Amino acid sequence: MKTEVITVSAGEGFDPECEEQLRRAGEILRKGGLVAFPTETVYGLGGDALNRESSGKIYEAKGRPSDNPLIVHIADMKALPAIVKEVTPEALKIANAFWPGPLTIILEKSERVPVETTGGLNTVAVRFPSHPVARKLIEYGGGYVAAPSANISGKPSPTVAKYVIEDMDGRIDMIIDGGQVGIGLESTIIDLTVSPPQILRPGFVTEAMLLEVLGQVDVDQTILSNDTGRAPKAPGMKYRHYAPAGELTIVSGEERQVAAYINRQVEEARKQGQKTGVIGSLETRNLYCADVVKNIGNRQEEATIAHNLYRILREFDDEKVDVIFSESFHSDGMGQAIMNRLLKAAGHKMIYLEKEENGGK
Ligand code: AMP
Ligand code: MG
Repeated sequence: MKTEVITVSAGEGFDPECEEQLRRAGEILRKGGLVAFPTETVYGLGGDALNRESSGKIYEAKGRPSDNPLIVHIADMKALPAIVKEVTPEALKIANAFWPGPLTIILEKSERVPVETTGGLNTVAVRFPSHPVARKLIEYGGGYVAAPSANISGKPSPTVAKYVIEDMDGRIDMIIDGGQVGIGLESTIIDLTVSPPQILRPGFVTEAMLLEVLGQVDVDQTILSNDTGRAPKAPGMKYRHYAPAGELTIVSGEERQVAAYINRQVEEARKQGQKTGVIGSLETRNLYCADVVKNIGNRQEEATIAHNLYRILREFDDEKVDVIFSESFHSDGMGQAIMNRLLKAAGHKMIYLEKEENGGK
């Protein structure tokens, strides 16, 4: 299949040429084709959510296990009632507070949503994104666009079109290049079919923000821990995800101690002929001696860290790095989402350095 790549810049509005291109992209979706597009979280791989064959094509293009349900994207609140059994009062509260935006809600699905889209479940995940390109495309595409992240299953989600092209060229009809996305991590997912509502995946919209609107919220305990002995409630969260090709280890401890430990590991890996990489921060990057040292941003700025994480993981692949070490980041607020993705990328491989070690062992 030949994949067409178009560039659309998202500003206040669209010029007539962009408008025409988005209309054409929408037409592809209506006819059952697949189009990758930017959203405010990561790039999505879109197909008509109400067409079971389109959903089938999405799973195939991504190599995604078919029990991993897709999020249905809408561009108008009026579109919600048709795909859910009931728009609950909680759903309305959430929509008023956070939509359009990086939050996905789970509700009982209506008959109109095929089980091919929901991975066999009788619930459906719905999001109303804020990105202007996404909204226009959904509107032209018929109003309901199923869109998982536009990467091959298991790889880090794309935050720039370059990595969408790398993964999806030849597999889908069109890729819309809208530049680098803003947030850089997938949406927060909250399940509204249980009481109290439960966060299944952390994201830009934090537990505290949801608590303020809903009064009571639970968090799926599998989010940061690997050893709860339970399966995550979002089927997709059980798979190894967001992983670079190189072996990633997270190191937690006092700044200089972490750097000393990582540098020793880097030396060891080098002796074995491996190419080494480190995810450091603005404050610490000069402490490391690895072949490739990345600056993920100021340690105090969660939004910057989130924005850079997936791009950096992908760059390690570009540079064929075999062994990667990352600093650990705090896990409250949006840090919960950052550590959730980083831990998954590392297959939960994390080293804790004890303080009194004074430089490490
Ligand atoms: P992605 O689109 O790649 O960001 O992945 C979507 C995530 O949403 C996966 O982790 C899915 O398991 C989760 N998800 C989608 N629909 C549902 C649902 N009905 N119930 C629980 N989790 C869902
Ligand atoms: Mg994904």
